[in-house]
Amino acid sequence: MQTSAPDIHDDLRDALRALCADFPSEYHRKHGAAETYPEEFITALTKAGWMAAMIPEEFGGSGLGLTEASIVMEEINRAGGNAGHCHGQMYNMGTLLRHGSDAQKAQYLPKIASGELRLQSMAVTEPSTGTDTTKLKTTAVRKGDKYVINGQKVWISRIQHSDLMILLARTTPLADVKRKSEGLSIFLVELDQVIGKGMEVKPIANMVGHETNELFFDNMEIPADTLIGEEGKGFRYILDGLNAERTLIAAECIGDGYWFIEKATAYAGEREVFSRPIGQNQGVQFPIARAYTNIEAANLMRFEACRRFDAMEPSGAQANMAKLLAADASWEAANVCLQTFGGFGFAQEYDVERKFRETRLYQVAPISTNLILSYVAEHILGMPRSF
Ligand SMILES: Cc1cc2nc3c(=O)[nH]c(=O)nc-3n(C[C@H](O)[C@H](O)[C@H](O)COP(=O)(O)OP(=O)(O)OC[C@H]3O[C@@H](n4cnc5c(N)ncnc54)[C@H](O)[C@@H]3O)c2cc1C
Repeated sequence: MQTSAPDIHDDLRDALRALCADFPSEYHRKHGAAETYPEEFITALTKAGWMAAMIPEEFGGSGLGLTEASIVMEEINRAGGNAGHCHGQMYNMGTLLRHGSDAQKAQYLPKIASGELRLQSMAVTEPSTGTDTTKLKTTAVRKGDKYVINGQKVWISRIQHSDLMILLARTTPLADVKRKSEGLSIFLVELDQVIGKGMEVKPIANMVGHETNELFFDNMEIPADTLIGEEGKGFRYILDGLNAERTLIAAECIGDGYWFIEKATAYAGEREVFSRPIGQNQGVQFPIARAYTNIEAANLMRFEACRRFDAMEPSGAQANMAKLLAADASWEAANVCLQTFGGFGFAQEYDVERKFRETRLYQVAPISTNLILSYVAEHILGMPRSF
């Protein structure tokens, strides 16, 4: 399918398509939740070096940028898979690379690059505060050479298939800081040191077969040198990770969008009703053409967000807008595809209903549509603050 995005990564795309071809839709249909995690697929991606795409060459990675990482994610979804099972390592990498100490990088990056360790989890969201992140209640209190963590998180993904987790917690009470974004810190937690030893994990069964969990911290102790960067500046650091995450999710939505358009177009050409292909009817063609157009437009913003992130330019506005446009475009394409398939869209064997559910998530996570619009209104257009 022709696309308007810069076509400078054909080799990368070819290699990924070859790998993804070994994991057909039947495979992805069966895998997802903790007990059915697509381990073979993620292992194949790791062995081929894709999960180390952003790790600098000196640490054993490929030294590629967010642009290339986003293509990895896009191609997984475009091939019928779900990059949500492994995208954490890409966006968490941005946080560790930009804000981790030399010692932390030397300790972890080579092992992540070799596949010995996975950095797939990031714990931000909390049940009682939701999107109001700076009000989060999990605390980290320094005691000698340790921090003691108490609190709770929700929707924390891939814990059962990760070795490391980036944790956001409050180190200075909200009442004692000038700005609510101050006093938060991030930590790089080794999961085998805390699971069952201060941290309890409770899986959440969910609509998209995504491995995700509630976490409970009860006097969980972690070494003080797990702190990333300076104490109290964690919110600023994690924003880099969040911008990377939004851009990668945009790329995944683009991959989903192309998958839906390809399926819808092929089916509209094959399915004959009233003695002609349904795709001959403009009532069927036009929604597919419109959805494709919107994916193409969103894709340009996605590459602009990637370019700015890789150039170390501010990318918050573009990352948020790319995520909004791409999530809307993939959701539109999902609806159009389901409608084109008619009743067969509801049969699991066509995968349309599965991808429909999977792409729906991106209207809500990792940031909901309303919150992006609020960011655009307030931070880009300078409109009055609403919360
Ligand atoms: C499958 C899945 C995996 C996830 N994985 C992770 C993970 O690995 N790590 C992690 O930290 N989090 C994760 N999340 C959490 C996700 O980031 C949040 O669900 C998301 O940010 C929305 O937060 P919330 O669910 O608390 O919604 P809430 O903040 O409770 O909001 C609920 C609704 O109200 C709307 N709303 C709230 N306030 C306003 C306002 N002021 N104006 C207008 N609308 C408003 C929101 O847009 C939303 O639609 C995951 C979630 C899911 C579903």
